[in-house]
Amino acid sequence: MPALDLTVSSIDLTRQLCDIESVSGDEQRIADEIWRVLGGAAHLDVFRDGDALVARTNLGRAKRVVIAGHIDTVPINDNVPTRFETIDGTDYLWGRGTVDMKAGCAVALKLAVELDEPAVDVTWVWYDHEEVSDALNGLGRLARQQPELLAGDFAILMEPSNSSVEGGCNGNLRAEIRTYGLRSHSARSWIGDNAIHKAAPILDLLAAYEARQVEVDGLVYREGLNAVGITGGVAGNVIPDECMVHVNYRFAPSRSTDEAVAHIRELFGEFDVTIVDLAQEPGRASTPHSRKSFWRPSEAKPSPNTAGPTSPDSPASVSPRSTTVRVTRSRPMQTTNASLSSRSPSANEGSGRG
Ligand SMILES: [Zn+2]
Repeated sequence: MPALDLTVSSIDLTRQLCDIESVSGDEQRIADEIWRVLGGAAHLDVFRDGDALVARTNLGRAKRVVIAGHIDTVPINDNVPTRFETIDGTDYLWGRGTVDMKAGCAVALKLAVELDEPAVDVTWVWYDHEEVSDALNGLGRLARQQPELLAGDFAILMEPSNSSVEGGCNGNLRAEIRTYGLRSHSARSWIGDNAIHKAAPILDLLAAYEARQVEVDGLVYREGLNAVGITGGVAGNVIPDECMVHVNYRFAPSRSTDEAVAHIRELFGEFDVTIVDLAQEPGRASTPHSRKSFWRPSEAKPSPNTAGPTSPDSPASVSPRSTTVRVTRSRPMQTTNASLSSRSPSANEGSGRG
């Protein structure tokens, strides 16, 4: 088993983290490893709750920053162990978790152990179950059970964002929209009532839906309403009596979760609507003033598929979920300690919760 070695570069540490499989629900081994390396850092008070880990400096600084990332991934897809690939002269680390989000976890882990005299107190968090139902989310569990561990003046989630800073967090809702009909043999289809055909207006509505771009506290949040799945059908010779369209709604913090549910019920009111997952209230970003006190933009550029920042320091952009992370380094790969960047071109996923 590959033990974590913090003396290597962030890139190689990313690779070590990725090569420990940690699909949601199976995070114990990676949590054990992180727990072990944190135990060697005398400047950190370390706490564990299930497979969520919290490490805090207690230097009496005037301010505290919380830096967090999830250690689970979506299911493996023939992409572990990771490998390096060179495409058009650029080196990529390829495989599950390289982007979302073990590169961020690696940077945080290395900094947590190496920075024993940070200018602000820092709370480092690595947590489980981000990629699944909100009810299982390790960060939510910590917030409910030990909120004092997460207290701070400013918080950063190390999710992939093309190396730009994204403020705030969209809310996340999933719903199942159902249509019903009547089964019959397809040789006597006029006797039946086709539930899949009845789903056409749902898809028409989604295809025509114009998602909002909403400004909240100086940040532009880009919403999204999409079908993410569809099921229906009984057999190749049966008129189906049920069809379900799985819909995902990412909504700006100008809407409460109740208002988001109401919006979905209003849109699909003529159908059977079941809300199957609903994140807690979407997160407003910090105030523009507190943002300025913690970071200064060096290259705040809107990504191509966003509305762009409303002020130079406030890009709220869309996160990619690609499976590679580009590594910027000089060869040979073992001897460098260069920065990580994730400017790969795919970017089709809504911002906010992964
Ligand atoms: Zn993520």
